[in-house]
Amino acid sequence: MPEYKAPLRDISFVMNELLESEKLYQTLPGYEEATQDLLDAIVGEAAKFAEEVLSPLNQPGDEQGCQWSEEGVKTPDGFPAAYKQYVDNGWPSLSAEVEFGGQGMPNLMGIIVTELTGSANWSWGMYPGLSHGAIKTIEEHGDTEQKEKYLAKLIAGNWTGTMCLTEAQCGTDLGLLRTKAEPQADGSYAITGTKIFISAGEHDMADNIVHIVLARLPDAPEGTKGISLFIVPKFNLAEDGGVGERNAVHCASIEKKMGIKASATCVMNFDGARGFLIGEANRGMACMFTFMNTARLGTAIQGLAHGELSYQGALAYARDRLSMRSLTGPKNPEGPADPIIVHADVRRMLLTQKAFAEGSRAFLYYLAQLGDVMQAGSEEDAKKADDLMAFLTPIAKAFVTETGFESANLGMQVYGGHGFIREWGMEQIVRDARIAMLYEGTTGIQAMDLIGRKVLGSGGKLLMGFTEIVSEFCAENTSEEDAEFVTRLKDLIDEWLELSMTIGTAAMENPDAAGAAAVDYLMYSGYVTLGYFWARMAVLAREKIAQGDGDVSFYEAKLMTARFYFDRIMPRTRAHKKSMLTGPENLMDMPEAMFDF
Ligand SMILES: Cc1cc2nc3c(=O)[nH]c(=O)nc-3n(C[C@H](O)[C@H](O)[C@H](O)COP(=O)(O)OP(=O)(O)OC[C@H]3O[C@@H](n4cnc5c(N)ncnc54)[C@H](O)[C@@H]3O)c2cc1C
Repeated sequence: MPEYKAPLRDISFVMNELLESEKLYQTLPGYEEATQDLLDAIVGEAAKFAEEVLSPLNQPGDEQGCQWSEEGVKTPDGFPAAYKQYVDNGWPSLSAEVEFGGQGMPNLMGIIVTELTGSANWSWGMYPGLSHGAIKTIEEHGDTEQKEKYLAKLIAGNWTGTMCLTEAQCGTDLGLLRTKAEPQADGSYAITGTKIFISAGEHDMADNIVHIVLARLPDAPEGTKGISLFIVPKFNLAEDGGVGERNAVHCASIEKKMGIKASATCVMNFDGARGFLIGEANRGMACMFTFMNTARLGTAIQGLAHGELSYQGALAYARDRLSMRSLTGPKNPEGPADPIIVHADVRRMLLTQKAFAEGSRAFLYYLAQLGDVMQAGSEEDAKKADDLMAFLTPIAKAFVTETGFESANLGMQVYGGHGFIREWGMEQIVRDARIAMLYEGTTGIQAMDLIGRKVLGSGGKLLMGFTEIVSEFCAENTSEEDAEFVTRLKDLIDEWLELSMTIGTAAMENPDAAGAAAVDYLMYSGYVTLGYFWARMAVLAREKIAQGDGDVSFYEAKLMTARFYFDRIMPRTRAHKKSMLTGPENLMDMPEAMFDF
């Protein structure tokens, strides 16, 4: 397993130089303390924890996995101790609200800590990871009593949260869920049903587990309009608010799975467990969206995390491994052969990984900042940020996890046959990365959300909210030098709008046209979105080089990677465009029975 080193220079570049975080936070009430010095110090500490504590547990955790017994789930050796250290050092409360014991740091800090801990050890990060969504859901939809009872413990990390949506018969189509909630005389509900695939549903790291559960009331309408949301603690709360007697919710088993083996994926039985309604009855899906959006951004980070870790491993190997000679003559004449980093094809793989990791980092930190503006900005700015977030979330979730997986796979390829062998750890990264395209809504479902709800559903308004920002950037950067990126980006923005109209018109005649175009449209959108961030980084890097900034090699590398992205990755939009415009017939005309032949 590659030894993880936090990419601090790049994090600082994105956080401080590209996105000018300090400047933004000085304008957002409540975040004024978030100066560059403080943000850098937090990132530095989180990096140490990730490198020194979590990274060494990554490969052993995969080998050992979790163990289920009647008493509960035992996580791999070292996991509970690392969690205790995480809690003792105050990490869970970093960007939570001050009112319930949070430190009130910007959302961006939470995202960066998730990246660092997740790159070092994604499985471990799943345990605290699900708590963020539970906290946000209770903050936004819980009543005063619920906030007082649960938030402080969750924010401190003494308790963790889960998201209990999926059942055996439904994951995507939650309208089919069957778990029941019977009202009780004391105002609580008896929750009965079985949830599957529940991450961190049971473990030995925290004193209590707060399940956020979707269930149906007895008189509920069918489908998604009849779903309500409940808090179901593993241990009922004692009079003093601490842990009381056991609630009737148990982990029946854990899944054996392809990757993230140290993350317990649980079957959870609710046998009349005591639960409490969050928000209004039958409005559970609307409340759950708070959780799901938080979790979607969290999952997007998984794409970045695995892409980065795989790149680090591949780069070290490519410098070390000798094979044949460079086509332009020996580069290591004293040695028996040249290191494989001299070969164009190996560089193609490494630069693809680098371009995806750094581009995704800029994209996701930008989204985290939008989250901060949503929370603390003026009403007008918050609304704008909310619209941008709604539009960009499906792109971030699906595109960054697809390209993160591609990167993980390329990292394995750089190792040749050794990549397939367990001891190197590169195949673990591929296995671990694969789930990100499935959970929190598959790529196909994100694509339908993007084209259906976000683009066509808003009459193109949400898309234009973003393309206007990109167009403004293009209009502000018209120098001859920047044209190599900016002109191409401008053309793509125009084309993106045209394609959206074409598909929208086709979908009015035949609804399958939207579904048939969806994934190509999403990937196209992802390449263009990342192109915007690469163009911004290139323009900034050029400025820094012109200013004679001491760190010239760093900026030159940025510029070269931007060029690689535009020359070698961006052409993928041509294939996606062509494919999405072929219409639904080549998919839908074949009668189902003919799939047999
Ligand atoms: C390791 C792991 C951890 C998980 N953690 C959690 C958790 O903590 N909490 C939780 O509630 N769930 C969790 N899940 C469940 C996960 O979110 C679901 O598996 C996922 O959303 C997909 O649902 P499904 O498996 O039922 O697939 P299905 O919904 O059956 O989908 C099957 C295929 O059909 C496609 N499809 C379905 N409907 C459509 C449509 N309308 N249009 C186009 N294509 C469609 C999908 O894209 C997919 O390719 C986890 C799953 C795993 C494996």
